[in-house]
Amino acid sequence: MIVKIKRDADQQDVTNLLNHLKDLGFDIHSSFGETYQVYGVVGDTAGFDTRSLYGFHCVDSVIRIQEPFKKVNRKIKSEDTIIDVNGVKIGGKEIVVIAGPCSVESYEQVDIIAKAVKESGAKLLRGGAFKPRTSPYSYQGMGIEGLKILYDIGKKYDLPIVSELMDKDNIEDFLKYVDVIQIGARNMQNFSLLKELGKIDKPILLKRGFSNTIEEWLMSAEYIMAGGNNNVILCERGIRTFEPYTRNTLDISTVPIVKKVSHLPVIIDPSHAAGKWDLVESLSLASIAAGADGLIIEVHHEPEKAFSDGAQSLKPKKFDALMEKARILATAVDKKL
Ligand code: PEP
Ligand code: MN
Repeated sequence: MIVKIKRDADQQDVTNLLNHLKDLGFDIHSSFGETYQVYGVVGDTAGFDTRSLYGFHCVDSVIRIQEPFKKVNRKIKSEDTIIDVNGVKIGGKEIVVIAGPCSVESYEQVDIIAKAVKESGAKLLRGGAFKPRTSPYSYQGMGIEGLKILYDIGKKYDLPIVSELMDKDNIEDFLKYVDVIQIGARNMQNFSLLKELGKIDKPILLKRGFSNTIEEWLMSAEYIMAGGNNNVILCERGIRTFEPYTRNTLDISTVPIVKKVSHLPVIIDPSHAAGKWDLVESLSLASIAAGADGLIIEVHHEPEKAFSDGAQSLKPKKFDALMEKARILATAVDKKL
C-alpha cells in the first residue's frame, strides 16, 4: 500500500507511524517529492485495515495496492476453477443452465417443471424450499418436505439439485438432499453462515447481495474458501439502482471483471435481475455473450398461479425457445450448451 503524508505533518507523528508499520512486519520504502512525503509499505496487507492508519494525524491518504482477497484471486491460481457437480462441470467449456421454479409448491408441480427443463437441456434443477421473503406473510416455503421432493425428482430425472439455505441449523439436511447449496442475496454477508459453509465441501452458489460491491462479494467467497471449501460458484442476480423498470439492474460487467480478478466460475440469474419474464431471454443471451459460465432461470408451467416470482418465470415453451437460441450463441463464444 502507499501512504501519503500531509504537507504540514508533525515529524514525530510520522516517526510513530513508521514504527507502527515496522512493528507490524512491513518493509517501508520512502520517497520525498517537492511537497509530499510518500511511503511504499510492502508486505501482506490482505488482512490489514488500511483505514486504521488515518488514526495517525500525519496521514493524508492511503491507497491499497494488494487486493484484500487471496484464495479467490487469480494471481494465486491462474487457471479457471471447474466445479464438478455429480459429473456436471461448471466453469469449463460448457455453459451450464440451472432451471426450475422459484419455490417448491408440491411434488406434481416440481415434477412437471423438472421434466420440461430436462428435455430442454437444463443440467441442474433449482427450487426454493426455504424462502427469504420480504414479508413474513408471504409464502415461506415447504421446508424439509420441499427438499425431499427436490431430492426425489432430482433422482427421477438425473438432475442435481440447487436450493437455498438460510439457516446453519439446516446444513445437515442440505448435505443429504441437495447437490449445490445456494446462498441468497440477502445472506451474502451472513458471515457466521459463510464460516459454517467453509467447513463442508458441498459446492456453494454464492449470490451477490443487491447492494454489495464486487469486492464485498469476493470477500464473502473468501470467507467460504478460507474455511477450506474451494467449491464456490459466483452468481450475479442484479443490483439495486434508481431504475424502476426492472426489479434490479443486471450488472453484466461483473462477468469480465470477475473473470479477470478471480478464477472462480460466475453464472447469471436473469430472472431476479429482470423481475419480468419477457426480459429474461435477452438478458440470458447477453450473459452468454459476456462470457458467463452458466445461467439460473426460473421456470413455471403456471406462472400466474406460482406461489412466488410468477412474474419473472418462463413457461416451459419459452424456456425451450431460449435454450435453442442460447445453444447457437454458445458456439459463437467457443462454448457448448
Ligand atoms: C431465489 O433464487 O429464489 C432468490 C430468492 O434469489 P435472490 O437471493 O437472488 O433474491
Ligand atoms: Mn425467486
